[in-house]
Amino acid sequence: MHEASIAISLIETVSALCQKEGYNSIESVRLKVGKAAGILPDALLFAFDVAKAGTLASQAELVIEYIPLGGFCRECGSQFESQERYIFACPDCKSSAIKITRGDEMQIIDMEVN
Ligand SMILES: [Zn+2]
Repeated sequence: MHEASIAISLIETVSALCQKEGYNSIESVRLKVGKAAGILPDALLFAFDVAKAGTLASQAELVIEYIPLGGFCRECGSQFESQERYIFACPDCKSSAIKITRGDEMQIIDMEVN
């Protein structure tokens, strides 16, 4: 499962940060996930809960903020936002000359530590 390896590397990253700053445990992690990032939030939450056992993040809660996909059309200049996971054509003029500018990222926003 793709989300399992993401959860493991996420926990490694936050644990390393937590240790480096001299804290003992992680309370919560806020994560920004783009709709087009190809990550299923439920699967990631589940994988996180499994992977956190025995780590500095064993008590941590993962909070996911879902970022809609956004972009613009090179044809008509329209800016769009979509709750879809993929978009292939401009919602206004149906041109396929679109550029996706956000929604494929995954980034830690912040975390609470003790
Ligand atoms: Zn267009």
